[in-house]
Amino acid sequence: VSAGRTRTYRADALVIRRRHLGEADSIFVLYSDDEGKFEAVAKGVRKVRSRKGGHLEPLSRVEVLVAQGRSLDIITQAQVVEPFSRIRDDLDRLYAGLYIAELVDSVTPGGGAQRGLFAAALSALAGLDNGLSPGHVSRWFELRVLTLLGHDLQVGGCASCARPLPAEPAFLAPAMGGLVCRLCRPGAGSGLELSLRAMKVARFGQTAALPEFAAVRIDAELQSELARALGLVVRHVVERDLRTSRLAAPAKTARLAAT
Ligand SMILES: [Zn+2]
Repeated sequence: VSAGRTRTYRADALVIRRRHLGEADSIFVLYSDDEGKFEAVAKGVRKVRSRKGGHLEPLSRVEVLVAQGRSLDIITQAQVVEPFSRIRDDLDRLYAGLYIAELVDSVTPGGGAQRGLFAAALSALAGLDNGLSPGHVSRWFELRVLTLLGHDLQVGGCASCARPLPAEPAFLAPAMGGLVCRLCRPGAGSGLELSLRAMKVARFGQTAALPEFAAVRIDAELQSELARALGLVVRHVVERDLRTSRLAAPAKTARLAAT
């Protein structure tokens, strides 16, 4: 056994949250395509000041060099690749950014990488940074997350019997993964009525790139309807995944959970 030999890895990562450790250190929770979700400590604020002059901040994209420690991994070098600093200029944008980071965090309970998640989160944060509407960005990201998790929102036909749905408001049942027809509704659990225009927007958002989706006109009423509906479905999926993944948590998660 090569005792004393530590593995060092480099990661192109998104900072999803930080917390203080003692007086001078911070623990960062990061997410990258290669490493999945991981935690690393930055000892002393000065050491993690980026060569470009920025800081390691939640919602920024960074390149870090990490030395694997016995209990905690240590960030030995950091460089801010994209600070996405304009997200912090506006409260609505900031909340949307934090929501995106929180979703990345909650859909990776086992710590493993979720294919496509890093790219989607970066698109969403870049969209916010470029001034796209926080509501559009959040809804687009929710739809993308559902797709990446293999739980595409079923809005094309009944999620239970696959019958086509008439062009009228339909019942959205999170437990069924989407809309259900009148016949299936009694066994579909709780949910809410979704308007026809909300269905159309959701359908479009499933395949649209963010800039296309951001160009869709969504008034305040429709925005809150979509926020409520997609929020319900996402929470349902996240909670279900959380329950199953806790049962089969790899070692890395045990460490994440223990800190
Ligand atoms: Zn049905």
